[in-house]
Amino acid sequence: MTPKKTGKVYLVGGGCGNPEFLTLRGQKVLSRCDTVVYDALVNPALLAWAPEDCERIYVGKRAANHALPQDGINELLVKLAKEGKEVVRLKGGDPYVFGRGGEEGVALHQAGVSFEEVPGITSVIGGLACAGIPITHRDCASSFQVVTGHLKNDAAHLDWKVLAATKGTLVFLMGMKNIEKITANLIENGMDPKTPAAVVREASTPRQETVTGELENIAEKAESLSAPALIVIGEVVKLRDDLRFFDNRPFFGRRFVVTRSRAQASKLVEKIQEEGGESVMYPTIRIQPVASEMARLKTVIGHLADYSHLILTSVNGVALFFEQLDACHKDARALAGLTVTAIGKATAAALKKHGVTPDIVPKQFVGEALVEALAPELSAADRILMPRSKNARPYVMEALSKICEVDEIKIYETLREDRTDVDVPALLKSRDVDYITFTSSTTARYFAEKIGPDCAALFKTSGAKCASIGPKTSEQLKKLGLPVDIQATTYTIDGLVEAIKEDCIKAH
Ligand code: SAH
Repeated sequence: MTPKKTGKVYLVGGGCGNPEFLTLRGQKVLSRCDTVVYDALVNPALLAWAPEDCERIYVGKRAANHALPQDGINELLVKLAKEGKEVVRLKGGDPYVFGRGGEEGVALHQAGVSFEEVPGITSVIGGLACAGIPITHRDCASSFQVVTGHLKNDAAHLDWKVLAATKGTLVFLMGMKNIEKITANLIENGMDPKTPAAVVREASTPRQETVTGELENIAEKAESLSAPALIVIGEVVKLRDDLRFFDNRPFFGRRFVVTRSRAQASKLVEKIQEEGGESVMYPTIRIQPVASEMARLKTVIGHLADYSHLILTSVNGVALFFEQLDACHKDARALAGLTVTAIGKATAAALKKHGVTPDIVPKQFVGEALVEALAPELSAADRILMPRSKNARPYVMEALSKICEVDEIKIYETLREDRTDVDVPALLKSRDVDYITFTSSTTARYFAEKIGPDCAALFKTSGAKCASIGPKTSEQLKKLGLPVDIQATTYTIDGLVEAIKEDCIKAH
């Protein structure tokens, strides 16, 4: 009989909002666990690290409406571990900073369950840093106190005299409901009403908001801000003017819709985030291998020696070609005798990943440039293999066939992606989109189809801008009755991002 697996609970700090603030240790245990038990404060993007078949249990806690009371959570963790599961208890910030992680740890210990705490970046430090506020500074704050703003009936559990007399930084968590009481108590107990103060809401996320003022007026100034927010009081608040780096990036506070396929969106999404923007994935296309053509490619791979040239025109083409090569138990060495041509930097880079440096990469990423670069190299004795998309323009095939034999294998096709997680029409209606990015004419066409017949009308009132990667895409947008507010000067993802950046700066 195999011995029963003993379970374990990891109390993991997920960091204070930005999904990149998860520690390496946190990511490691999360990516191998059987169950995740998580809270409202945790960024749901972190769940993507968990294995697909991992059980996800939400025990959302947000102020008054606990989805599951603390005792229930403790019992659940014990039960899961006793079933032999590896459990990640995922919490916002650090589990031991007002996260009730201590209580959960004690309950596990008392039940004889083994556990480990994985520290996280607390909002107290990381959140303030993203607002440009360092929690200490040699010139003005040699200590800090982190205080609950969850005042019990008489607030007598806190020593307000000591808090008011501090020369360091005060940070109140969970304090927005009581901000007036907190500031009044400090002033009554002798703190200078002119002490700099700030409220930072949803720190480290694209929705971060910061209001600064003084102890005497911060409650009023930050009236519109709701939880989760940090109240910070002390001279360090003044340093924000010099130390802001997060909420002054060009795309900060702006929402982008990305229409590329799920598989190809990551580069653009990353660039948007890097500049401070929020991206919403709304894939309009998906790549579908064509089974019969893939089978034909397999046969052809058995006779690669019959060819003199291989042309690859897209990252998808490279991926599928090498997938088939691998299925035939071959690798890059099979291309030794071939002249390899790639269209586009991304295609060339994908080839390099497989250990193949293309011999020819035309300067421009279009068929005409390919023919121009390749034609002088070819004679009637050559034979070209060209696995590519079923949707590709016939031009290259026609032009090269005039010189030598070309085997075009249409190994994949681009179809409309109908699955979607986000209601983009609703976002457009509520004017919650700033830019929609189009990286090909196909994405433009399918976007309009997905949104429906009133797409163009919806745009007029949405305030959203269309950003196109180049002239072909712009032409299609115009045909669809959509505006071309921005067009990239260089027809690449980098070029598109640059063009939008210029527009953002203009609009400021
Ligand atoms: N363990 C968490 C704190 C939990 S208590 C940590 O280490 O950060 C919940 C309180 O934390 C909220 O009411 C708010 O005051 C603060 N908080 C957590 N994340 C925050 C964020 N991203 N922005 C602002 N405040 C945050």
